[in-house]
Amino acid sequence: MSNVETEPAELRCGGPVDDGQSAGTPGVEVLAARDVPLGGPRAMRVRRTLPQRARTLIGAWCFADHYGPVDVTATHGMDVAPHPHTGLQTVSWLFSGEVEHRDSLGTHALVRPGEMNLMTGGYGISHSEVSTPDTTVLHGVQLWVALPGEHRSAERDFQHHIPEPVRIDGAGIRVFLGSLAGDVSPVRTFTPLLGAEITLEPGAAISLAVDTDFEHGLLVDSGDVRLSGTVLRPAELGYVPPGAGTLTLVNESEGPARTILLGGPPFEEEIVMWWNFIGRSHEDIVRAREAWEAASDRFGDVTGYPGARLHAPALPNAVIRPRRNPPRG
Ligand code: MN
Repeated sequence: MSNVETEPAELRCGGPVDDGQSAGTPGVEVLAARDVPLGGPRAMRVRRTLPQRARTLIGAWCFADHYGPVDVTATHGMDVAPHPHTGLQTVSWLFSGEVEHRDSLGTHALVRPGEMNLMTGGYGISHSEVSTPDTTVLHGVQLWVALPGEHRSAERDFQHHIPEPVRIDGAGIRVFLGSLAGDVSPVRTFTPLLGAEITLEPGAAISLAVDTDFEHGLLVDSGDVRLSGTVLRPAELGYVPPGAGTLTLVNESEGPARTILLGGPPFEEEIVMWWNFIGRSHEDIVRAREAWEAASDRFGDVTGYPGARLHAPALPNAVIRPRRNPPRG
């Protein structure tokens, strides 16, 4: 996925958090999605819940795009030409449809429902993503993970994992990163992370033991889901600060519900995000943009994509205003 907001803001995100915990059960903060075009004529639209003004990261999760269900036989579907990434990992997870992935590591893979693909673009990688001709309904999420400073120039990498579904109390859980409900993903990450799809039958109620050092985000795809007392509607992201040892999920709708649970310890470093790059300074972003526009080896070549690669947008010429997560109270 490429961030194609026409005037992408450079975000300075994160930084040390206030460790002063208030007493009692942490509350749930409800974050609404923004509707963002994915670019090009008749382009797909995505619902973006991270980053946003109220919250830029949940653990190292720094970007959450949620799309579909969309009938792509009537549109272009997803067609994202080769574009670069630095300082982050991309996690692709589909509910339906199929996406063809090509990257400058030489990977040519199909992203399918229930199968996680994690691409590491540390120092630099480029990739393309196209929904396949066989796809009728495209529906899923793309998530980005910020790499910590000591690994932000990590080598290009691509990992694939098909989690075995875990069944508990009317829920189906697929753990693609980290551990939950007795399942542990074998996929390597650079900071502790949790990523799982949780589906709930109508009326299902579950309690999940989670790491108290983690903050969590529950993205609702379908259904009305009560998260630890707060009802979340489709496309909303419920945020739970660190300190919770249990999360409760209740499907309050008459049909099935589907959610994505994200978690990780608060990311303590300041990062600068612009377009498809994460750096630590404005200069990092300028260098990455110049390297991409100059077709530098830093990002390599994607072979097999039928078309031109994406150009980076112009850099903003205004002074960049830092943005951070609000202090915890
Ligand atoms: Mn991408």
